[in-house]
Amino acid sequence: MGRSVLVTGGNRGIGLAIARDLAEQGHSVAVTHRGSGAPEGLFGVRADVTDSEQIDAAFKQVEEHQGPVEVLVSNAGMNDDTLLMRMSEEQFTKVVDANLTGAYRVAKRASRGMLRAKFGRFIFISSVVGLSGGAGQVNYAASKAGLVGLARSLTRELGSRNITANVVAPGFIVTDMTDALTDDQRAAALAQIPAGRYGEAPEIAAAVRFLASDEAGYVNGAVLPVDGGLGMGH
Ligand code: NDP
Repeated sequence: MGRSVLVTGGNRGIGLAIARDLAEQGHSVAVTHRGSGAPEGLFGVRADVTDSEQIDAAFKQVEEHQGPVEVLVSNAGMNDDTLLMRMSEEQFTKVVDANLTGAYRVAKRASRGMLRAKFGRFIFISSVVGLSGGAGQVNYAASKAGLVGLARSLTRELGSRNITANVVAPGFIVTDMTDALTDDQRAAALAQIPAGRYGEAPEIAAAVRFLASDEAGYVNGAVLPVDGGLGMGH
């Protein structure tokens, strides 16, 4: 059955791969963007996840276009890496505001419709770094770890209403975000990955496809790593 899906940050990178995959499954898929416009064949709504009013307006457009959001993929995220000693409070709060508070904002807005429909799938895109930590990433890692607590609390609050909340924790995936790393950083990461290669965005989409499905109704509060074995043990 086709569901109404919203993917935040679905205009490029991992989010776009997720949106395209879910659209291929027959779902109605909307994506948020911040001015780039909608990718070909997808319904786009403009929203910055740091702004509740923009989120509300975006949800209204999605509701008019394809009905209340039944599957929310909270994917929008950013990083601003530097060692703690050099990290300003603004750098810390900016990343947490986008990655964690942003996820709270969209989840809260989506929960209304899910409760009414007695069906929902929340999927939060975290990171291996949220579980293992990363030097120079106290802001990013804290925000990504926070998504686990957020999802598991949602599971406890809404689990009896046929609503699931799960986390996907990608490892090193080739996108604009990882293109910004230095060759040394890329080589160091590769040396730690048992799979011996970087991941591709469609590999994250495949995990999301499962968690979004009706068949995944008994998977709740889970953290699914998709990282080539990088974070084993968490
Ligand atoms: P990209 O940098 O390629 O894309 C980031 C996306 O998030 C863009 O669509 C961007 O929109 C959007 N975004 C960022 N900030 C905001 C905001 N305030 N409001 C709305 N949208 C925003 O990153 P990836 O595709 O690599 O990453 C996607 C997610 O996966 C992120 O949460 C990231 O942390 C996570 N992740 C990525 C990994 C990787 O190796 N690539 C590993 C682990 C996790 P815009 O185009 O407008 O800038």
